[in-house]
Amino acid sequence: MATDCLFCRIVKKEIPATIVAENGHCIAFRDINPQAPTHILVIPRQHVASLNEAKDPVVIGQMHQMAVQLAKAEGLSERGYRTVINTNADAGQTAFHIHLHLLGGRRMTWPPG
Ligand code: AMP
Ligand code: ZN
Repeated sequence: MATDCLFCRIVKKEIPATIVAENGHCIAFRDINPQAPTHILVIPRQHVASLNEAKDPVVIGQMHQMAVQLAKAEGLSERGYRTVINTNADAGQTAFHIHLHLLGGRRMTWPPG
């Protein structure tokens, strides 16, 4: 746990968030500035700054597993959705506790901006 990390504080329930799922490994909550009708962030309970620091591939799998479950719960499985991890400056990472964006409910464009 990093005491100065916003998402660690959400894990500890020190900061309010609209939590939509949690298990022993991950927690998922709605993005405060949604970019699609469904925009959920899935994070590991343990502090990992970015994908560069993610030494345990199981954690990455657990995040994706929760995103797949949430996509189903949100009714997105068939029509589709996007999962994104932004890493460092060029990708626009602003929160340095690794998070998987689950975006859906509208048609996505490619290439991404
Ligand atoms: P990224 O740019 O990939 O680092 O994404 C960080 C995301 O965290 C952005 O989409 C923000 O809108 C979102 N965010 C920042 N603070 C909060 C918060 N307190 N609760 C929910 N989402 C947040
Ligand atoms: Zn953290």
